[in-house]
Amino acid sequence: MSNTTHTVTCIAGDGIGPDVVSATQEVIKAAGVNINWENAEAGYKVFKAGVKSGVPEATIDSLAKNKVALKGPLETPVGYGEKSANVTLRKLFELFGNTRPCVELPGIQTPFTGKGIDLIVVRENVEDLYAGIEHMQTPSVAQCLKLISRKGCEKIIRLAYEIARAEGRKKVHCATKANIMKLTEGMMKRVFEEIAPEYPDIESQHIIIDNCAHQLVRVPEDFDVIVTTNMNGDILSDLTSGLVGGLGIAPSANMGADVTMFEAVHGSAPDIAGKNLANPTAMLLSAVMMLRHLGEFEAAQKIEQSVFVTLGEGTALTGDIAPKGKGVGTDKYLQALINNLGKSPDNYTPRDYKPIKIPQLPEDPSYGSTKLQTFIGADIFIASPMDTKSLGDDLVALSEKTPLKLKMISNRGTKVYPAVGGKTDCVDQWRCRFMMRDENAQMTDTDLMALVSACATKHIWVHIEKLCLLDGEEGFTRAQGED
Ligand code: NAP
Repeated sequence: MSNTTHTVTCIAGDGIGPDVVSATQEVIKAAGVNINWENAEAGYKVFKAGVKSGVPEATIDSLAKNKVALKGPLETPVGYGEKSANVTLRKLFELFGNTRPCVELPGIQTPFTGKGIDLIVVRENVEDLYAGIEHMQTPSVAQCLKLISRKGCEKIIRLAYEIARAEGRKKVHCATKANIMKLTEGMMKRVFEEIAPEYPDIESQHIIIDNCAHQLVRVPEDFDVIVTTNMNGDILSDLTSGLVGGLGIAPSANMGADVTMFEAVHGSAPDIAGKNLANPTAMLLSAVMMLRHLGEFEAAQKIEQSVFVTLGEGTALTGDIAPKGKGVGTDKYLQALINNLGKSPDNYTPRDYKPIKIPQLPEDPSYGSTKLQTFIGADIFIASPMDTKSLGDDLVALSEKTPLKLKMISNRGTKVYPAVGGKTDCVDQWRCRFMMRDENAQMTDTDLMALVSACATKHIWVHIEKLCLLDGEEGFTRAQGED
């Protein structure tokens, strides 16, 4: 154990948060690590005090100063509009990497017991549909923007490789839906393929996300590191937690270039809060990740081994994981964990952990924007109750005197005008694609304004997207059925 005293921001959180955090602190102390815990607030009480983000200034300052936090679960307000304090914390400090190890634990029986599952999901944590940019396009059609940046992809992919190296892992799978979302999910795949050769010591493989879910249930032992986009990762990491016994025992880290925050995956379980029933394992294993981050590798291993020994003994387990009727209180489980510090479980080969090199990319907002962007048309989204043919014919006529002409209309991604046969059950939001009449001309804003003004004489437009070329290549996708 090192002689260093580490200062760590501690957010005990809501519900069972204080129960599992205090148990974790006791084990860390018993393992001989010196931590100066700087207590900070977030969550329920803070919302109630009128702070809309659920995170007060003092907590932000503490995190900015200490750079490391152990956080209990925070209750997300339901019904009074505020954003989640968890999401606020992740976004505020650009905690771009959510990492969730998933290891078969002794004494926790699952249908997968014996397969030797030992993997980690590295999920992008701030972009994608979680940017939370949603708009009602018509009273009955909602839209959510899926934003994926090249920089975001590069950061999470490099982090996945760095974790693989730090933990002596051999393989990184990149799981995407690039076959359908060629630009957004496709960007993740392309950046993965670009960066993979920089890590020749690690096997790299792309996998379609749905097949990844399928293979995880068939052969979970074949996976080592899985890197993926936010929404995919949200679902996949719950799946992998389920493989080894559920959310209640799953640890996680939210990593950024500057700040890292460790937390259990489970929520605040208010029904059992303060009743000496909560299982602190997930929080404790999150603290094990934190200790490695702080360079306390020996203590981390000692605590991890104690968890394994205690679970393996199975004589003092909390009710959620003990055989029916045999559960003990948090206090007795905690005592067993402390008693078992220094013991080594059977068949345990510790990994040779090294510090993780967190990727540091330039702050320049245009990082990765190396291609020349030119505009050749626009998609105008129109809210209209008209039928397809009447709307199409109308827009052809309205745009006649502008530099752009209607190429096609699609409804929820399927081309419906000019008619292609088949039957689309249309809704009242239409993507109307206009291209420059002169194929060699670039579209100016004046051209676009003329078109929009002409369409707006009869129709309600709700959204406009310019169509660009990047170094001559189309920077937009075609509708189903569009040539
Ligand atoms: P939850 O708090 O994880 O609890 C669901 C159930 O799981 C509990 O009722 C309890 O089951 C069991 N459980 C979870 N953790 C446990 C532990 N450590 N020890 C023993 N049992 C445990 O999920 P939820 O009910 O959906 O969410 C409650 C609140 O937590 C919500 O406000 C939600 O927004 C928030 N939340 C926060 C985070 C976070 O801060 N990262 C994450 C998820 C949810 P029994 O009923 O069988 O005892």
